[in-house]
Amino acid sequence: MSKIQVMSEDLANKIAAGEVVERCMNVVKELVENAIDAKASLIKVELIDSGVKEIKVVDDGIGMDKDDSLLAFSRHATSKLKSLDDLFNINSLGFRGEALPSIASVSNVLLKTSDGQSGTIVSLEGGVIKEVQSCDLKRGTTITVSNLFYNTPVRLKYLRSLYTELANITDYLNKMALSYPNIKFILINNDKELLNTSGNGDLLKTILNIYGVVVASKMLYIENSNNDYKINGYISYPELTKSNRSSITLLINNRVVRNNEIIKTILEAFHTYIPKDRYPYVILNIEVDPFLVDVNVHPTKMEVKFSKLQTLLDLIFETISQRLSEKTLIPKAIKENVEDNYYSDIKNETYEVNDNLYNSSPSSFEPKKVQELTFDFDTFHEDTSESEDKDKEKESYQEDERIKDMYPIGLVHGTYIICENKNGMFIIDQHAAAERVNYEKYYHALSTHSKNTIDVLIPYKIELPSSEYLILEKNFAILDKLGFKYEEFGSNTIIIRSHPTWLPKYAPLEAIKKIIDIIVTNEDFDEDKFNEKVSITLACKMSIKAGDVITLPDMTYLIEELRKTKNPFTCPHGRPTIIAYTKYDLEKLFKRAM
Ligand code: ZN
Ligand code: ZN
Repeated sequence: MSKIQVMSEDLANKIAAGEVVERCMNVVKELVENAIDAKASLIKVELIDSGVKEIKVVDDGIGMDKDDSLLAFSRHATSKLKSLDDLFNINSLGFRGEALPSIASVSNVLLKTSDGQSGTIVSLEGGVIKEVQSCDLKRGTTITVSNLFYNTPVRLKYLRSLYTELANITDYLNKMALSYPNIKFILINNDKELLNTSGNGDLLKTILNIYGVVVASKMLYIENSNNDYKINGYISYPELTKSNRSSITLLINNRVVRNNEIIKTILEAFHTYIPKDRYPYVILNIEVDPFLVDVNVHPTKMEVKFSKLQTLLDLIFETISQRLSEKTLIPKAIKENVEDNYYSDIKNETYEVNDNLYNSSPSSFEPKKVQELTFDFDTFHEDTSESEDKDKEKESYQEDERIKDMYPIGLVHGTYIICENKNGMFIIDQHAAAERVNYEKYYHALSTHSKNTIDVLIPYKIELPSSEYLILEKNFAILDKLGFKYEEFGSNTIIIRSHPTWLPKYAPLEAIKKIIDIIVTNEDFDEDKFNEKVSITLACKMSIKAGDVITLPDMTYLIEELRKTKNPFTCPHGRPTIIAYTKYDLEKLFKRAM
């Protein structure tokens, strides 16, 4: 019985076939998803010139019999969907069926397939079947698409540069590998291997295969659920970031999707842990009843809408914030040399980190080999689980154990506090640390609407340009809310008679001017964002600066205050406050330990 069924006209019309083959990436996507639907456990993608010359996809899936292999190239044939209802079932990857004939119509295709009993070879040129042969083949399917767009030269011109094309394909396959850790993915371009995952079902190992050992060893597992959603996956330590959001992979019921609200929520949970415009590594799996999700049924898009979005966003935010707040996140000054540390026994598995593929310039078309390592994953894995256990022990301590006791010894360049304890040496950036302390203090006072005020002996008179004064006048309610007592004085002038107690005592006027400045430059008023902005600005402007020489008791006080904060490890701009040299690092630097 043939597995491919002819799709209804109605469904066919829902699908905009034209866009499917606009780019090599879409051809790869189509063929790879066919292979997944065929239950492959190995999918190998081989490209010549980013796929423009040739795309070959090999799988070990269920294959096709002769009838199906011919039917696959007729329009509206699909084995994946029977009715329109299936389109809305997110568990089904496919809503294509149009794609294979579309691909065939603009290229040369060679299909070799076998269902384990009989093998078939079909060759097509421009969509026309040229030859059909029966022969013995191993179970699985190999499709070679060559000279894509040969008969539509106009399309070729629309292809982005070869480099961008390859970057898109790599990104796509990385994400597929993350959504199917039990499938082995291999990507080769011009004989160069860009991806090779183990396919053993272990997500952390897939992360290792894709991003490399440094990233994999700095990932935190997360897991949580509520009535509607189950989430799990990995987030990176805040010290690991990327300059674009390709490091964030969202999966819904195993399907890679895009959703800006979820990304925004993830970034909010990392807020002040990482610098602005940097992105953490995140692989987030969301399990949900398909009825709560609306997938855009466009063949090239993966956008989704949720009917209970807010409960999902809350779950994600809480889970990530909680996980980050349990961990000691002091970056080590000496990056672990992975070969030395964990991975000395070698099982001869070689891989490449191709994460920098996206960062290198388009002119260097060949992706750079960033690092080539041999390692033993099992050792690596044991090691992390062991340190997880140690972390758990640590986590059962009091909160303030996140920063162990450390004792200041002195100040370097009036900027860096040197501390020690039995574990090693620590360097604290005094401005960043003070900024964190003050930021949390201001933010807390603002968001709890602390109403304690101080009358000033000599009232402050502040004059503004009339354009700014007009905006301030419109927003007097904000000053009331903050607890200021003030009067208007003539034109464009305001007199401050009392101000909230939390303002820095040594420079209240400067702080008030900053606040007014923020009010007049942010016309649409969102309380949270306003509080945030005031807290960060005041913290930065009012904290001890680099170059201010402070005494040892000041340093001790600062460290105590830092320890009490919610996130002592970064300043509100996401820069680190503390860096560690472990005792072992020091011993290694001086060659006392090898
Ligand atoms: Zn600052
Ligand atoms: Zn800062």
